[in-house]
Amino acid sequence: MEEKGAENGVAAMAACYQGFDPAAYLQNNYTPPRADFERKDCVVLWKLACLHRAFTEGDVSGELLVDIGSGPTLYQVLSGCEVFNKVLLTDFLEVNRQELRSWLQDEGGCSLDWTPYLQHVCKLEGRRPSAWTEKAARLRQVIVDIVPIDVHRPQPLAHDALPSAGADCLVSCFCLESASPDLASFTRALGHIGRLLRPGGHLLLIGTLGMSYYFGGAGVKIPTVPVNEAQLCASLKESGYNLIRLEVYTLPQDMKLGVDDAYGVFFVKAMKE
Ligand code: SAH
Repeated sequence: MEEKGAENGVAAMAACYQGFDPAAYLQNNYTPPRADFERKDCVVLWKLACLHRAFTEGDVSGELLVDIGSGPTLYQVLSGCEVFNKVLLTDFLEVNRQELRSWLQDEGGCSLDWTPYLQHVCKLEGRRPSAWTEKAARLRQVIVDIVPIDVHRPQPLAHDALPSAGADCLVSCFCLESASPDLASFTRALGHIGRLLRPGGHLLLIGTLGMSYYFGGAGVKIPTVPVNEAQLCASLKESGYNLIRLEVYTLPQDMKLGVDDAYGVFFVKAMKE
């Protein structure tokens, strides 16, 4: 009975995602005020700073970085692409994989210009902003593929998508809580993606705090599981991760836009046992 309920919840989420609109999602979350490069306190600059720090501390290393639930975005791999020689992007929806392919092929048709993001991460790395073209070339060179994923499956990727040793690092932003109907399925999804990671490999997880819905397009209201810091820590532990660092960002009032009801954003650095 319980299992059937969980399956129905997951199926209902998948149905909601059929209305997801990459362009509208990018507009809501990756343009001002949430992405205002003149404003130090905006959420996007906080995320980029967390990722920059995590990827340059020295302990996160290896050959293969996998981004879980990439969506239509690239900001989450702009630091990691300098550390890893291979980056695998993944998403549940073909429309999002197509958006990423448009950028990769560099033939126009992208819904968002990633140039200011590339420039900003160059600055974080102590390079001149004009080095952004080199970073874009590096990212295009290291992306090995863009593949389907379902975090609710015990094996989220196709069986031949990864080498048998697993990934050296996972990054995942706003995917698990946005794709899970309840806390139990969020925790299970954390466990599923952990199976893609080698023991001793790192998980860099970004997500929303207290979010019960967000808009994935005009009129596309997606119900999500609200997670708090204590629940997040318990879920990580239960799924076999050791927490290294948890950072929390509280959304300023003027960044609450009605496109979701989150009160904040978390950043987690953890290691698989
Ligand atoms: N990582 C991006 C996108 C997050 S939006 C960012 O940082 O903004 C949530 C993403 O979860 C969407 O791209 C959606 O397609 C994906 N998603 C939805 N259901 C999923 C599932 N069952 N498995 C994996 N990803 C899923």
